[in-house]
Amino acid sequence: MPHISCEGLSKIYENGGLPLPVLKGVTLSVERGEFTAIMGQSGSGKSTLMHCLGLLETPSGGQVRLDGRDTARLTDRQKADLRRETMGFVFQSFYLVPGLTALENVLLPMLIRRRRPDRDKRAALMLERVGMAHRMGHRPSQLSGGEQQRVAIARALANGPELLLLDEPTGNLDTVNGESILSLLGQINREEGVTALMVTHSPEAAARCGRIITIRDGQIDGDCRKEEDR
Ligand code: ADP
Ligand code: MG
Repeated sequence: MPHISCEGLSKIYENGGLPLPVLKGVTLSVERGEFTAIMGQSGSGKSTLMHCLGLLETPSGGQVRLDGRDTARLTDRQKADLRRETMGFVFQSFYLVPGLTALENVLLPMLIRRRRPDRDKRAALMLERVGMAHRMGHRPSQLSGGEQQRVAIARALANGPELLLLDEPTGNLDTVNGESILSLLGQINREEGVTALMVTHSPEAAARCGRIITIRDGQIDGDCRKEEDR
């Protein structure tokens, strides 16, 4: 059974009172542990697709299934619980809380969840995991872009997600920092078996993934897996 899938997914926004179809019947299915790149021109609907798959947006039509279960009937509360407990999100702009230290930012998702006694230790462990053990007390403004993205990744890992949704995670980083973030994400995917979907504009970044899906004008235009991953 696929880990996450969608069938005939559509999303219609409204623009000045007129309907704006953004996703036009997207069907795809992602196996557990796959690392998939999503490519396509700006405005083609990549972020909208990620938001629908991450249960952040309600589709206008079609289904999103998690482990084969249709998510349409879930309440907002149930969706929020699923997101917090099984998914991690990383965005182009890191969205760290400016007034909090790196450690506190990573602690945050664990505070909302039922109390875990080991959460301080776990936050520190996650920062170690992303190579940020030496910056736990720093605030976002005291960190470089690459370092901030590492903290954001540690935060995404805090509750032990099964699925990582990454929307242009290296979009704001220089080549060197981008490369090291991609290595880290690849390592997390391999070592922890986390399923990862990553929107990227970089062919080099996509080439690291086992599968590349291309979106064009709200529809799937290409879907290819690497030989060795078949
Ligand atoms: P991509 O991530 O591929 O660049 P998006 O999914 O962000 O594309 O957006 C696809 C299209 O949908 C764009 O034309 C964008 O302007 C439009 N769009 C995105 N979100 C909204 C929204 N909340 N309301 C209206 N239009 C939107
Ligand atoms: Mg986008």
